[in-house]
Amino acid sequence: MKCPFCGSDDTKVVDSRTALDGSIKRRRECINCQKRFTTYERFEENQIYVVKKDKRRVKYDREKLLRGLTFATVKRNISREQLEEIMTDIERKIQNTLSSEITSKDLGEMVLEKLKKVDQVAYVRFASVYKEFNDIKSFIEVVEEIEKK
Ligand SMILES: [Zn+2]
Repeated sequence: MKCPFCGSDDTKVVDSRTALDGSIKRRRECINCQKRFTTYERFEENQIYVVKKDKRRVKYDREKLLRGLTFATVKRNISREQLEEIMTDIERKIQNTLSSEITSKDLGEMVLEKLKKVDQVAYVRFASVYKEFNDIKSFIEVVEEIEKK
């Protein structure tokens, strides 16, 4: 990392923290001129694609997923940070696959898997939207599945 003031290569990190979006914020100091500056490091992200039921391939929309999660967790004791964490976790997993592609079904299942551990009411709410319960029977099945555990 070159110092933006004097161009020296000799800099040290004096503080490092992770921002909410997962990027790493580093405060650096130049050994040569002692000036300080901040850098942000982000993982190089592959665009994630979601394959819909009708085989359409659409760009993964983080905001949309966050809206769904926020809806599912209304009045539950779950912070925005927790939701961000769930999503970041899932995104990393998908990015680790070679295609960076996931079916909407698998994506939903991954979210449900996470929510199940965090909050069961949120789980049922998300499931009711995501699984598009056509009838009360499939809804009851999900509830029963929870109760078994
Ligand atoms: Zn410098």
